[in-house]
Amino acid sequence: MLRILLNALRTGVVTIRYPAEPSAPPDRFRGAPVLGPGSHLPPPTVCPAGALSERLDAGGRHVALDLARCVFCGRCAEDPWADAVVMGRDFELAAHHRDDLRIEVVADAPAIPAVAPGRDAEAVRASSEIHRVLGRSLHLRHLDAGSCNACDWELSALLNPVYDIRRLGIDFVASPRHADGVVVTGLVTRNLETAVRRTVEAVPDPRIVIAVGACAASGGIVGEGYASAGGVDRVLPVDVYIPGCPPRPEAILFGILVAVGRLDARRLHREE
Ligand code: SF4
Repeated sequence: MLRILLNALRTGVVTIRYPAEPSAPPDRFRGAPVLGPGSHLPPPTVCPAGALSERLDAGGRHVALDLARCVFCGRCAEDPWADAVVMGRDFELAAHHRDDLRIEVVADAPAIPAVAPGRDAEAVRASSEIHRVLGRSLHLRHLDAGSCNACDWELSALLNPVYDIRRLGIDFVASPRHADGVVVTGLVTRNLETAVRRTVEAVPDPRIVIAVGACAASGGIVGEGYASAGGVDRVLPVDVYIPGCPPRPEAILFGILVAVGRLDARRLHREE
């Protein structure tokens, strides 16, 4: 017992202070790719996840990145595109709308400035109502709809002493009837489609649905098929999308706080 107490004293407080203070991911952390406008942007065939697309018009070659599909593998930032694409370190990527995760740049054009963080009127109304009801105390039910478990591990890390999500009044519960919302990981497999619907319907209104990771946000590298219905929004309305494969715990925390209106969603730079 004495040894345990001494160890605890020696270790000190390990809990991070995010979001009250910024969090610094480790050096090896790889965030979303940042496309620098230029002639040397990679073709869509480079991306194994189908996150890159392009179109040609009078304005030039437009290259679009769908962050909901991106698995942050870094292939588009390797030679010979290393001078045009860099892997960013931003993890605060959650968005209310799927379209807000689409970034488009024009090759051979000056940089498109980032849009200041902001939300549309509908999102503001919805989140202020959710904030009023759920803002200070939030209970979530985790639902694995068909994941590889990577997102589930990151989600469970939120309960450890380092992230300690309970310090923010947020906890996970076993029954959807005791929950204020559902956190879904993985694409929705056909076998679990009905279970996903019923679980969310069992949560009392107002409820929130959060899609965690590339698979839940878009169907990921599997997409839609005979065994997969695709992303969660193919089955149910989603309130917040959290990109990543898997998203790190702070990224999930950021998305949960965005869902209840305690933080503003980041609007990514895109062509207007
Ligand atoms: S990081 Fe990987 S998944 Fe994401 S756009 Fe680049 S190649 Fe595609």
